[in-house]
Amino acid sequence: MQYLGSCHCGNVKFRVEGEITSAVTCNCSICQRKGVRMAFFPRSALTLLTPEDKLSTYTFNKHVIHHRFCPVCGIHTHGEGVDPKGNPMSAVNINCIENIDVDALPVQRYDGRSL
Ligand SMILES: [Zn+2]
Repeated sequence: MQYLGSCHCGNVKFRVEGEITSAVTCNCSICQRKGVRMAFFPRSALTLLTPEDKLSTYTFNKHVIHHRFCPVCGIHTHGEGVDPKGNPMSAVNINCIENIDVDALPVQRYDGRSL
């Protein structure tokens, strides 16, 4: 399955390949503030359709996760990091994907606050 997503203003566009079967929410300090719902993919499954320099990057704490967002409209599109085995991963904000009904997906709560 292929999904297309974008920020609000369209400055940032992306395509991701895989299956979205649940909506992951997280209670860590940043996810809670953003109200983001996510799906995780290998980094190679995510293709930016926008030049890298059109995105901004926010990091905090150990600076291991790159939180990418549109500097024009402020919408967070995805995060980039590595899984526990060191494989590059992306956490896509599925609220940015237009051809799915995010509210229909089962919610999987992740306790990021306790880590
Ligand atoms: Zn934008």
